[in-house]
Amino acid sequence: MDVGSVEDVPTVLVLPCEPRPVRLMNTVWADRHGVHEALTVPADLARWLTATCLTHPESTVTATDLHTAITLRDALRRLAALKTQDTRPAARSAIHDIDAAVHVVNQTAATGPCRDTLDVLGDRLRLRPTAPTADPAIALATVAAEAIALLTAPDLILNACHAPGCVLYFIKDHPRREWCSTACGNRARAARHYRRHHPTPNSATEAP
Ligand SMILES: [Zn+2]
Repeated sequence: MDVGSVEDVPTVLVLPCEPRPVRLMNTVWADRHGVHEALTVPADLARWLTATCLTHPESTVTATDLHTAITLRDALRRLAALKTQDTRPAARSAIHDIDAAVHVVNQTAATGPCRDTLDVLGDRLRLRPTAPTADPAIALATVAAEAIALLTAPDLILNACHAPGCVLYFIKDHPRREWCSTACGNRARAARHYRRHHPTPNSATEAP
């Protein structure tokens, strides 16, 4: 993956309503200038971990934590590509081997205890999310454990966004949701409209 870096990366702004494992996948994002890496220095990861309620703002993030996060992110993107049959060239993960990706997720999850707890409210059972920790390694283990649950949940549909140039993933939370965002939907419709009115010899027979 050819990943550039830019100033003022919207590390915490990309699809903030997605579950944390998907938000980690989406720390690789793209615009019309190309594909970007949102986690370039430990401070980027520190911001991401705080914004996703995984660590306290004052916790120290090291270069090792950053490496762990990027490796986990690349493993999750590889498994997301497998699950969504994603062939977008720009979205290709730095990790190609499926077994290696599975190993990374399991190894990362194993470095921290599962800290979710069961809670009861009246007659409803619910999961009480993990409280923020001071340790980034435990925070990343939490994301890995959440990813295992998310990637194997029978009722969750992970999608790759096929708008032009997009490299993001999202949970299909509505049957008609086709794109990661309204902006991508608008761009995809504009591209479709353009192709219809400017047919090339190869696309002249394309279905509307
Ligand atoms: Zn998109």
